[in-house]
Amino acid sequence: MTIIRGGRVLDARARRADPGDILIDGDTIAEIGPPGLAAPADAPVVDAHGLLLHPGLINAHTHAQGNLAKGMGDRWTLELLLTAAPWIGGGRTLEERHLSAKIGAAEMALKGCTAAYDLPLEWPAPTPEGLEAVGRAYAEVGLRAVVAPMVADRTFFEAIPGLMEVLTPPLRKEVEKLRLAPWKTSVENMRRALQGWTLDRDRIRMAVAPTIPHHCSDEFIRACADLAKEHGVGLHSHVSESKVQAIVGLQTYGKTLTAHLDDLGALGPSFTVAHGVWLDPDDMTRLGDHGASVAHNPGSNMRLGNGFADMRAMLERRVNVGLGTDGANCSDNLNMYEAMRFAALVSKARVPDVERWVTTDEVALAATEGSARALGFDGRIGRLAPGYKADIVFLDLAHPNWIPLNDPTNQLVHAEDGGAVRHVMIGGRMVVENRRLTTVDVAALAREAEAARDRLARVNAPMKALYDQLAPVVGRYCPGLAHMPYHVDRYVGHA
Ligand SMILES: [Zn+2]
Repeated sequence: MTIIRGGRVLDARARRADPGDILIDGDTIAEIGPPGLAAPADAPVVDAHGLLLHPGLINAHTHAQGNLAKGMGDRWTLELLLTAAPWIGGGRTLEERHLSAKIGAAEMALKGCTAAYDLPLEWPAPTPEGLEAVGRAYAEVGLRAVVAPMVADRTFFEAIPGLMEVLTPPLRKEVEKLRLAPWKTSVENMRRALQGWTLDRDRIRMAVAPTIPHHCSDEFIRACADLAKEHGVGLHSHVSESKVQAIVGLQTYGKTLTAHLDDLGALGPSFTVAHGVWLDPDDMTRLGDHGASVAHNPGSNMRLGNGFADMRAMLERRVNVGLGTDGANCSDNLNMYEAMRFAALVSKARVPDVERWVTTDEVALAATEGSARALGFDGRIGRLAPGYKADIVFLDLAHPNWIPLNDPTNQLVHAEDGGAVRHVMIGGRMVVENRRLTTVDVAALAREAEAARDRLARVNAPMKALYDQLAPVVGRYCPGLAHMPYHVDRYVGHA
């Protein structure tokens, strides 16, 4: 048993942060009560005077491989980012996969995040060793994680109608070398990884991520859905992230990507849409009716020029909304406070009608309970309540973000930026104490990352050269698609 005394416990819904003590038994919250809560005489005391306690933030969407690619691009659309993938994420050793994940996990912990839904990329197919390396990185830092390999059986160039045809024959030949493994190989490798998973599933588990619907054949999506069902794990896909995707979906299937996934039997309570910027009302209704989730990534959506997802419309249709940062290669920092602030701000920027805006308590709940449900950890993380895991962030109320303390929910979402994070407890264990990680040596990580950076710049130089040739073509072709008017009825004849 451990007792946290003297803190103020956030209730985001009630917009209160009353003084309270928290009794912890092992990794779980046993009791929360007024100051002076009874505890065994020998229970260690964590002094939380002057600190605000809130449930650990949960990142519903990120990518382990992105952390070593931080800062590599500026004016990238999603389509240019996908073109850059072999350059910025290629040639990784097993150690570098582990290192990249660990950098992200360390950053998230320091910024008040205690669990993440991570979609790593391995080319030409995921491997049990590669997935284990990512999972182990999270375990070493002390975070919870769901590791969902991004899989596809069509490359980006094969998935965008007409794109191959506009490449010169020599470029087409180079692009053809990027071909992915047959889908059965990917499914078999994921099955082996699921069966042989050695990490504690209570903390680190797997899921399955057919990366983008039209990058996968129908048989592949069905096999992914079956595999996820068979093993009781989540399914996660980037759906209608960009307008290009939404239009290509209609062109390819004669229906939206969501309707296509629905017809393949992929939707359900353990299904998560990443982004969903271009979902239409019918898509959202389908997701809501299936009890599915959207991982809302407002920072990445702006950064890649994809637009503003409509969180209010999702909530109205009973879609579970979680919040994410996306990967460091397209939203740069993995700061969930920033994700909350952006979620609130883009909602306001979309339309002038205040009733369409999401409230700060809706945003705070999305970043905790909403994300927890997307990860499949609902009822166990995302709240400070008896029976929930002791995943607790301690914010310093003497930090300017909290001077003065007027409304804790508004300030958590609109004012906090991670600067006030003093301690982070995950499963009753202090992973961050006095602003320092207790589990990994960040200076050592930096040295390893610098060596990896040098090596990767060398081995990926040919892929950088290929990107430089492809970027002007992709950069003209895809915006051409994106400038097309987007009306669903134009393609499928329904309102
Ligand atoms: Zn993503």
